[in-house]
Amino acid sequence: MDDRQFRNAMGKFATGVNVITTEVDGDIHGMTANAFMSVSLDPKLVVISIGENASMLEKVRKSKKYAINILSQNQKELSMIFAGQIKEDRNVSFESLADLPVIKGANTQISCEVVNEHVEGDHTLFIGKVIDLKLQECSDPLLFYKGKYTSLDETEEAVM
Ligand code: FAD
Repeated sequence: MDDRQFRNAMGKFATGVNVITTEVDGDIHGMTANAFMSVSLDPKLVVISIGENASMLEKVRKSKKYAINILSQNQKELSMIFAGQIKEDRNVSFESLADLPVIKGANTQISCEVVNEHVEGDHTLFIGKVIDLKLQECSDPLLFYKGKYTSLDETEEAVM
């Protein structure tokens, strides 16, 4: 099995798109991520997975906290900014949730404290205890499928 085949197989799992945010010494850093899962209801735990080459890795290790911003379908550009797919510097406005920077207009914002970390292969899993969250009631999510951005509207059109 080669890397391409593995990536193609994983890409068949449709996901939402998040931007992970954190703050170290007053500097806010964000990174696009779809490796995210709810882990436990009691206590309320989630997990994210960060690659060994991402600058976000050391930042989360230092701050010991992160926020998950589940993007709305109209926030594809933000995903591209925080994935380095748009190269020019852009001014992004943040607000605050439980002392963490979060993205305005995100479908859902979830603030977490790191309670555990596991290095697994070339990624590190950060278990986060949810300390606060905020939901937007009426926005559809941005989706990622087979290596491309999509939305519920586009998938509905494709079925019709
Ligand atoms: P950098 O490359 O330094 O930053 C990324 C970009 O964010 C830069 O362009 C930077 O200018 C911008 N940025 C950062 N902070 C700010 C700020 N405060 N204001 C404005 N712009 C800012 N990688 C994983 O490790 N795990 C995943 O689960 C994952 N899922 C992904 C899902 C999708 C759909 C995509 C497209 C990519 C995913 N990636 C994932 C890859 C990851 O997003 C990129 O490799 C990313 O560039 C790594 O970010 P970095 O922390 O190294 O930061």
